[in-house]
Amino acid sequence: MSDIQQTAQQLHDQFSEHLDVDVEEIEERLEQYVDEYKIPLDEARRSVESHYLDEAGIDRDELGRGGNPTVQAADVDAPDEWVDITAKVVELWEPRSDSVAQVGLLGDESGTIKFTKWAASDLDELEEGQVYRLGNVVTDEYQGRYSVKLNRTTTITELEEDIEVGNDETSVEGALVDIQSGSGLIKRCPHEDCTRVLQNGRCSEHGEVEGEFDLRIKGVLDDGEDVHEVILNEEATEALTGISLEEAKQQAMDALDTTVVADEMREMLLGQYYRVTGPTLGRYVLANEVEELSEPTDAESVLIKARSM
Ligand SMILES: [Zn+2]
Repeated sequence: MSDIQQTAQQLHDQFSEHLDVDVEEIEERLEQYVDEYKIPLDEARRSVESHYLDEAGIDRDELGRGGNPTVQAADVDAPDEWVDITAKVVELWEPRSDSVAQVGLLGDESGTIKFTKWAASDLDELEEGQVYRLGNVVTDEYQGRYSVKLNRTTTITELEEDIEVGNDETSVEGALVDIQSGSGLIKRCPHEDCTRVLQNGRCSEHGEVEGEFDLRIKGVLDDGEDVHEVILNEEATEALTGISLEEAKQQAMDALDTTVVADEMREMLLGQYYRVTGPTLGRYVLANEVEELSEPTDAESVLIKARSM
């Protein structure tokens, strides 16, 4: 493809949501500038872009950057990239901050990804269950987990189609052989978008802060061959232990010690067999579901291993 053809294609992508114009027409305009008037291509591009902005009656910042790669939810693996994505709003969550208009989960055939829509971006409301083409979103990463951010330049197009949202979850199982430090009743940094777990009342980013209590388990499952690290959030931890956040706080208050909560959980859970299902985050499986197993499902391999020791 020549430079002119490539530029024409990019302009065509940029305007495809705003104008019904074909790529050949754009190419002819560019050629006229470049070949007849000897204008450099980037200048020609700006002129042609201005022409179509007028025609579409829109401002430059309403325009997609064009030429963004279209990505699948599960393929996002770097921050700060401008991309387009077609996805269904799988879930909407309660924003934790006034600067966020909407936050939730987008899904496509490949899996799911978190999205954040800033209040300042002044975009249309997304509805749960609806499929959208989102142009010009920026990827972000936090502790190994990727998300996309909708911003002022993002274009939102409602689509008629439905999407069968893929499952990017994995399942691991084995005996729970360790509940690591940082489990039980913990405190998180209250700063917007931070949520780091505090160590001795300090956030590694924000220093000394008044933490917010949370419950979680960082555990290790051993299936006889491999170990798998799993993280249970408050909901999964309560489901497994029957200990709610309020009860955990009460226990800690009675003992004047937060570590009693993790100790009780160790007592209760270590040595039991579990299957944990959920998305992976780095080396962790984030538990959406935890099932207690009566025995290792692959008892054979554990026996073989035991005999060989
Ligand atoms: Zn922090």
